[in-house]
Amino acid sequence: MAKPLINVVWFKRDLRLSDHAPLRKAIEDGKPILLIYIFEPELMSDKHYDIRHWCFVWQSLKDMQQANKLNFSLSVAHQNASDTFRHILRFFDIHTVFSHQEIGIKITYDRDLTMKKLFRSKNIVWDESSYAGVRRGLRDRIGWAKYWHEQMYAMEEKVHLGNLRELAIRLALDNSAAHQAIKGKPLPREVMEPMPEGMQSGGELLGWERLESFVNHRALGYTKNISSPIGSRHFGGRISAHLAWGNLSMRQVFQYYSRHVKEKESSVQRDLNAFASRLRWHCHFIQKFESEDRIEFENLNPAFDVLEQPYNDEYFERWKNGQTGYPLIDAAMRCLNETGFLNFRLRAIVLSFWSHLLWQPWKPAAEYLASMFLDFEPGIHYAQVQMQAGVTGINIIRIYNPVKQSKEIDPDAKFILEWVQELKNLPINLVHEPWTLRPLEQLFYDMQLGLHYPLPVIDYKKTHTDARDILWGVKESKSAQKYNRKILKMHVEGKLKEQLE
Ligand SMILES: Cc1cc2nc3c(=O)[nH]c(=O)nc-3n(C[C@H](O)[C@H](O)[C@H](O)COP(=O)(O)OP(=O)(O)OC[C@H]3O[C@@H](n4cnc5c(N)ncnc54)[C@H](O)[C@@H]3O)c2cc1C
Repeated sequence: MAKPLINVVWFKRDLRLSDHAPLRKAIEDGKPILLIYIFEPELMSDKHYDIRHWCFVWQSLKDMQQANKLNFSLSVAHQNASDTFRHILRFFDIHTVFSHQEIGIKITYDRDLTMKKLFRSKNIVWDESSYAGVRRGLRDRIGWAKYWHEQMYAMEEKVHLGNLRELAIRLALDNSAAHQAIKGKPLPREVMEPMPEGMQSGGELLGWERLESFVNHRALGYTKNISSPIGSRHFGGRISAHLAWGNLSMRQVFQYYSRHVKEKESSVQRDLNAFASRLRWHCHFIQKFESEDRIEFENLNPAFDVLEQPYNDEYFERWKNGQTGYPLIDAAMRCLNETGFLNFRLRAIVLSFWSHLLWQPWKPAAEYLASMFLDFEPGIHYAQVQMQAGVTGINIIRIYNPVKQSKEIDPDAKFILEWVQELKNLPINLVHEPWTLRPLEQLFYDMQLGLHYPLPVIDYKKTHTDARDILWGVKESKSAQKYNRKILKMHVEGKLKEQLE
């Protein structure tokens, strides 16, 4: 008997039911549609990911099912992608697989190559829609900003939910052999549990709530609080995880901003415009990664390959667990581990501490931070890690002084004391530099260094000078300058160049 002919919509990091080109195209085509998300075991156990990401995905899928009344027509598989599609092919003939292009790490790139081969061998069309103004195979940036704006102002990819409900195959409702085979192994229970308190939950509805509350209420105070560890958690957009997992499309966010910005007072407009430039940076970095994904493993500027930074496991453990003896670093890492979020400045500071002051290779830190950032977005992440580590050649090298930063961005030590409670008995000035406590003060405040709170893992003044001399030496070398010209040509265009440098 002939198998039913269907189309498949394969959800990846685009977990929403609006402004969605693959869905729009599949509906227009009119064949029955199998909607599927695949939890891939290899990806789930990859170093860049943590259970928090899969919880966020699960919540987003639940939101698509329930809030949009899809009534369990979204199939969820837990096995690798090729096995999932082989099982689908036992029960259906597939005409086209619709998905978004994924601009991801090597493991997903390799998976896509395998899938391409599989689809070709079975005469299946793979229709991949582009991501937010990012162009595949781009070799330079001429005209990129203009193209990006055109994409942002273009009409939404309209999804008719009524038609979708009619066409979607409701596999998950029955216990058919097809459903059993396609869904694979049961998902780990923790994936389906609520997010720990303090971490953002996933879903289109929550994403919209965040965006609306930001544009209409929280934006005034955005730039003023942007570097404050506590203030930025409230006054920042806080939509990064929703963008990274596609609960909101970049076009939806941009259009919402541009519809509302005109009606605001000029001070709010300034804040909103600062937010909007970051939306473009978001895509700029992903475009960079699309054009040069080797930066997942290699320095953007190969002149920096001469750096000798032997990995030290003890440093890694102390850094990631917030036990360096530097209160701001320790507070940031503990906060990140528990909440999945840090603002830009703190991300830059903890990375600089690792790369410059501990003089360590950026890769292990990049992987660990990715696994803790709920908003892990490969393109932004690797580009930023390399910028902050100072190995791009084209950006200013910023080596953050952890004490100066601590006093500047957390002057009353509220953030530090929230996360490093061992220091709660100390006067504020000593909280920033507990190693300056004299033995008598340690007795007085009942805080023994090395016992209640670690002694500093390194002497930052010394390692700061060493790192600065070495990094600037390489940056000014002929070899680095030569690579810079190539990098600028490939990744940077006109005005954007001035903003990003
Ligand atoms: C080492 C390092 C790693 C980073 N890794 C990531 C990552 O994996 N995913 C991620 O989304 N951001 C990353 N960032 C950028 C930035 O820190 C976050 O986007 C921002 O803190 C998110 O908070 P928000 O949503 O309140 O941002 P807002 O200030 O409200 O900005 C709005 C949106 O613009 C984008 N954006 C903001 N700042 C930047 C920036 N500097 N570069 C590119 N896009 C930006 C984000 O999508 C953000 O949601 C990284 C920064 C550093 C220094």
